[in-house]
Amino acid sequence: MDYISTRGLSPAVDSAQAVLSGLAPDGGLYMPEAIPAFDWQRCLTLSAQQMSAEILKALLPDIPDMDTLVKNAYTGKFETEDLTPTVPVGDFQVLELFRGPTSAFKDVALSMLPQLLTAAKKEKGIAEEIRILTATSGDTGKAALVGFRDVPGVSICVFYPYGGVSQVQRAQMVTQEGSNVHVCAVEGNFDDAQTGVKNIFAACQGKRLPFLLSSANSINIGRLAPQIMYYFRSYADLLARKTIALGDKVDFSVPTGNFGDILAGYLAKRLGLPVGKLICASNANNVLTDFLTTGVYDRRRPLLKTTSPSMDILVSSNLERLLYLLSGDTALVAGLMKDLNEQGFYKVPDSLLAAIQAEFAAGYCDDARAENYIGKVYRDHGYLMDPHTACGWAVAERQKGENPMVVLSTASPYKFSTAVLTAIGGDTSGSEYDRMERLRALTGVPIPANLAALREKPERHTGVIPKEKMLEFVLGR
Ligand SMILES: *Cc1c(COP(=O)(O)O)cnc(C)c1O
Repeated sequence: MDYISTRGLSPAVDSAQAVLSGLAPDGGLYMPEAIPAFDWQRCLTLSAQQMSAEILKALLPDIPDMDTLVKNAYTGKFETEDLTPTVPVGDFQVLELFRGPTSAFKDVALSMLPQLLTAAKKEKGIAEEIRILTATSGDTGKAALVGFRDVPGVSICVFYPYGGVSQVQRAQMVTQEGSNVHVCAVEGNFDDAQTGVKNIFAACQGKRLPFLLSSANSINIGRLAPQIMYYFRSYADLLARKTIALGDKVDFSVPTGNFGDILAGYLAKRLGLPVGKLICASNANNVLTDFLTTGVYDRRRPLLKTTSPSMDILVSSNLERLLYLLSGDTALVAGLMKDLNEQGFYKVPDSLLAAIQAEFAAGYCDDARAENYIGKVYRDHGYLMDPHTACGWAVAERQKGENPMVVLSTASPYKFSTAVLTAIGGDTSGSEYDRMERLRALTGVPIPANLAALREKPERHTGVIPKEKMLEFVLGR
């Protein structure tokens, strides 16, 4: 199947090459030229792993042996065999995406990406090592380290901002075991680390290196495609519980940053799943709320630090894929991305805005409201949410209509103990581990085993470097 760039200026490639390349040479993102025909009703009768395999076979047909890859990615790695359970809470349903090895929703995709990448590499007859470079504001780094740990033929370097991630997130990364993993703090903020990684890609372009560089972030179709599964899983769970009948529409509220998670929901819909509205929930960094209501995307504003840091983002890369899907016009997309780059904003034509608004709703929730909802949902229903999920819940409250509502839960509350304890009236003194323990004592919700184990693990990666030394770090491993 041909994959083309959303900007239309790169040659078409097959799906294995799209996974290997990540970004297209013209700076665009790879998308299938047409969405394939798909037996969505049969898919709903399958197990989570089988669902994943069928969806990935349809979208990445040039990667062979998908059943085995899926089995290797997921078997025994998640808390439950259905991977992503949906639980009723009050009038809503909560789709729990954080039951994986690092308690972040990114585990669903980053468990699968190493399998897809190594299979694509084999398919293309590439012998060199692949070196994954990732800058992280917290969750992606650890999920990628666990996913790529000891995968033959691949190594990974993760950079995080020194002092810029939570104590638990830092502990998760610096204690990582494995012979092919490298972690380093960078003096500066997340943008400095991310710019540093981009500069390394630019500096290495066209150079002969002993390895190929690649990226683990959601610009790669191999990271996006595995996320479609849980929309099917959730719908099938509601069917099994008779909350809905086959064909009924379901709305999904998605805590959004880079627009990858919610775009996977839209792809599920295009594959046939009866999805009603997709609700894009932001925090106080509400650039997407403004875009989805006015058609103007304007990144010229300060980036605010919130209690939901994984959504603190001003440029949502995967929105480009939606613009392409709904316009089919690569020249238009290329022009809009040029405007964004050169002027800091763009405006879509009215017809495209109307097409987007027919599929998506949007809203945002600041820290104070998120905290209110964490407290309220805990008091009313005994269910503990993290601040990202609380944004999804708050926006869902405003957008609810006739259809059943699924709120996607993207992180364990134990990754954000301070904010959660504050919301339910607990004492926040002491270390992060004291707070986790206090939250458990207050609520009885078990601490995920991977987080509880961190306290005892030795720190293995304690380096801190200035951003000018990042290239040296990568070349020297
Ligand atoms: C990454 C992340 C998000 C945002 O997902 P996108 O696919 O980037 O929109 C939301 N919540 C948490 C906890 C995350 O780690």
